Amino acid sequence: MRLSELFFTSLRDDPSEAEMPSHRLLLRAGYLRQLGAGIYSLLPLGFRVTKRVEQVIREEMDRIGCQEIEMPVVHPADLWRESGRYQKIGPELVRFKDRADRDMVLAMTHEEVVADLLRDIVRSYRQLPVMLYHFQTKFRDEPRSRGGLIRVREFVMKDAYSCDRDEAGLDASYQAQYGAYVRIFERLGLDAIVVGADVGIMGGSKAHEFMVLNDFGEDTLVLCDGCGYAENQQIAVVGKPSPSAEDQLPMEEIATPGTTTIATLARFLGVGEERTAKAAFFMTGDGRFVVAIVRGDYDVNETKLVNALKATGGLRPATVEEIKARGMEPGYGSPIGARDSVVVVDELVERSPNLVAGANREGFHLRNVNVGRDFTPDLIAEITNAREGDPCPTCGLPLRLRRGIEVGNIFKLGSDYTRKFGATYLGEDGVAHPIVMGSYGIGLGRNVACIVEAHHDEKGIVWPASVAPYQAHLVAIGADRDPAVVEVAERLHEVAFNAAAEAHRPELEILYDDRSESPGVKFTDAELLGMPRILTVSPRSLAAGGIEVTDRATGARSTMSVDEVEASLIAG
Ligand SMILES: [Zn+2]
Repeated sequence: MRLSELFFTSLRDDPSEAEMPSHRLLLRAGYLRQLGAGIYSLLPLGFRVTKRVEQVIREEMDRIGCQEIEMPVVHPADLWRESGRYQKIGPELVRFKDRADRDMVLAMTHEEVVADLLRDIVRSYRQLPVMLYHFQTKFRDEPRSRGGLIRVREFVMKDAYSCDRDEAGLDASYQAQYGAYVRIFERLGLDAIVVGADVGIMGGSKAHEFMVLNDFGEDTLVLCDGCGYAENQQIAVVGKPSPSAEDQLPMEEIATPGTTTIATLARFLGVGEERTAKAAFFMTGDGRFVVAIVRGDYDVNETKLVNALKATGGLRPATVEEIKARGMEPGYGSPIGARDSVVVVDELVERSPNLVAGANREGFHLRNVNVGRDFTPDLIAEITNAREGDPCPTCGLPLRLRRGIEVGNIFKLGSDYTRKFGATYLGEDGVAHPIVMGSYGIGLGRNVACIVEAHHDEKGIVWPASVAPYQAHLVAIGADRDPAVVEVAERLHEVAFNAAAEAHRPELEILYDDRSESPGVKFTDAELLGMPRILTVSPRSLAAGGIEVTDRATGARSTMSVDEVEASLIAG
């Protein structure tokens, strides 16, 4: 491909809206452009990388016997009513009506369609197990899109579904997908770690997420260097201290002016934060007002809270008006005297005697508050975040917290969907059984961005050879002065083009910078665009014996003869 003909432009300066290196570099190097919030166009370079990532995933899915199909983006809403997710999922599911006034949705994922196909096609145990996958556009109306391709609203995902006779079959399919994922991320040049995770809107019994460590990540991972324990903070349950036994003391109100945070309160009273109770206020998607109480030295874990409440439609922070309307005072709040609220108390608070809690009066707190004596919780559950240095639940060593980006996930769904859809098979025993499903996702764009996060330097992108849009970037210098430069450059371009066409491997093509730009501009672009090798043809290189070959990752340079370069381009 000639750079002079490529639909492409590079930016000299960093786009102001881009915070993450991948976002900045993919914009600057002309791989993508933003159309709207969380909506991007892939330009030719970005499209080629994405197709290569797709092909790696396809090969590994095919290798484990997963069969490629294509399911639609637009679904009749009735299908989602059948699974209950039409009601359960909030505004991130886009709902609309077609011309005949029928309710429709834009698919976020395809469990419903697979369950519908299974009930249509599967009759006998002889048809199972089967695994299906497709690459398809998803739309999720996320409230916050960010980081370029990291969190978007429209994206292409590989989603795969395993369909088995029983739990043992699901275990085997889950293991096969797990192994395929390990190989996929290895081939993509991503150092993915696997953590236990919440099942979220998918439902089911077990989930793992494949994560890459990244300071911009939205997830917090709880990791143990001692035994390899690794869980998403959303679900990690770790060791908590045992408070020493104390007699319950009489509750008393004390003036605590200007202490709306736990830190200021503890400092004002001269006590540790573990002697205080922290109140957090939420509204659930199903309309309940929730007061969550954790000890002052912990934070509320919203995933655990949602799961404890079995709340559909998620949680949002309550407003000041909503808190006051129920008899409580923000900054000085506690469940004592609260009305029309669901009070959820962390189990450690229940075990901790004589805490300082809000008096629901501005500038006042209550000393010696005891759960059960002074207020009655509706629910006692484990609802706190694991903290840096907390003891590992497996081996007891101090845990560390790191930020991560999810690059793939795998879920054991069980038979939730197939029971609802009546997707059964007739077993060897002559009895109808529900099919047991698993669900396995990988977002393409997010993986492209994560590859750039892991493979770049101050000059630009450094693609691993496994996903590079072109195998080399050819820079011709002095073409106007020396016809031999043009002749050699054209020949290499043609050799690579023919090799790609013959082998049906588009990645064997090279990007040929034939523009009449200065050498400085050409090299800057070559380093920014990030092909694994930069080939320089100039009167000087020809005089030195051929082509100067620069390894983009290491910067190592060598001179190869034209014949040697040709042979290496054909080999790929
Ligand atoms: Zn451990």
